[in-house]
Amino acid sequence: MYAPMSAQPVPFSMTASPFSDNPERPKVHVAGGAGGYENTIRALANVDLSVVRNKKVLLKPNAGRMAAPGSGICTGPEVMAAAMDVFAEAGAVVHVGESPITGVKTPEAFDITGIAAEAHRRNIPLVDMDARPFVPVTIPDGVAINTLKLCPEMFEYDIVVSIPVMKTHMHTGVTLGVKNMKGCLWRRSKVLLHMLAPVEGFAEKPLDIAIADMSGILRPHLTIIDGTVGMEGIGPSAGSPKRLDAVVVGVDAFAADAVACVLMGKDARNVAHLRIGASRGYGVIDPARIDVTPGFEQWASAFADPPTDIAIGFPDFTILDQNSCSACQSSLLLFLRLYADRIRETLPADSKPAFAIGKGHDTVPPGTFCIGNCTRRNRDQGRFIQGCPPVGSEILRFITGSPYADGRSGKDD
Ligand code: SF4
Repeated sequence: MYAPMSAQPVPFSMTASPFSDNPERPKVHVAGGAGGYENTIRALANVDLSVVRNKKVLLKPNAGRMAAPGSGICTGPEVMAAAMDVFAEAGAVVHVGESPITGVKTPEAFDITGIAAEAHRRNIPLVDMDARPFVPVTIPDGVAINTLKLCPEMFEYDIVVSIPVMKTHMHTGVTLGVKNMKGCLWRRSKVLLHMLAPVEGFAEKPLDIAIADMSGILRPHLTIIDGTVGMEGIGPSAGSPKRLDAVVVGVDAFAADAVACVLMGKDARNVAHLRIGASRGYGVIDPARIDVTPGFEQWASAFADPPTDIAIGFPDFTILDQNSCSACQSSLLLFLRLYADRIRETLPADSKPAFAIGKGHDTVPPGTFCIGNCTRRNRDQGRFIQGCPPVGSEILRFITGSPYADGRSGKDD
């Protein structure tokens, strides 16, 4: 379906799904109450999969972080197992692929999420989409971004299925089927979407506009949203697991995301990247225009919103965040959660320590802990701790002289 790209960035489209649907009134199927495996089987039973016979199908989960099953951070192994079984039984050649966040190795993420064990059991290959050189593409209608580096697999499969886990997200409100395709951007190029300058004439954040831009060329052919155990609050990785026991399936990723939003107690029209993409005709998010499984609301349960500012949870610290990516935010959040008491004990009682993350700081107050490589330019103003993403034990070692929370010497570390 996808033509191989030359070395020159040229427009291309991967938007035509082989699965039948009415783009004016897309169907979305919801199954709940039976566990991740069975819910997925039941929801997919509503889709005519005869078109996948002898086709190469790439299942793209969210396996972008080192997270165990049940944590709500990555797609669950039960949903992946069901998807592998259904597509294999329909006669497809099935592979599972991912390109994780900065600092995470794909095979290790597949292992810890439990996806590798399910794939090995079925003899289904796992693909490290970062292993080979990227393919450059241009985005014809891009507003915040005009080019992307894509993993080469985007041109090698007949069908791409986005299989995210249902989560709130500090930067983008939610992260579902549309945003999960960001894991098809090659290696560290994903991070660039977090570091864009504001777009003149737009109130929305450049990240949201860039995700909408991306979805102009990277829309999945089918979306399966794992709401077995999702994440609420400080997503995408520092929130709380939220059990919903529901799975959402749709050909139109925007419509599937919109229904997932309803299940989460959200309105997709308030999610900037979905609103912008839908306004360009990439999909439907108006609930009145979506043909969804009757009674699906029985599986709804409101997800706590993410805070708009990390500092809310740590009032005795100053958090300076300018255009950081979620990897840095998660690292700092987890670090403060684990070690805030130890930091308070180490530093003078009357101090209010400041932490800066992200690339956009012209200046920082003297003494600020500048966390992560993006703050390197501020190293002469504050105290620089390198890493991308930064590592909690390194931050602790820098501040306290020990990488251990109980203050043991780090000499034998
Ligand atoms: S240093 Fe932090 S904000 Fe910068 S790219 Fe790395 S993880 Fe993201």
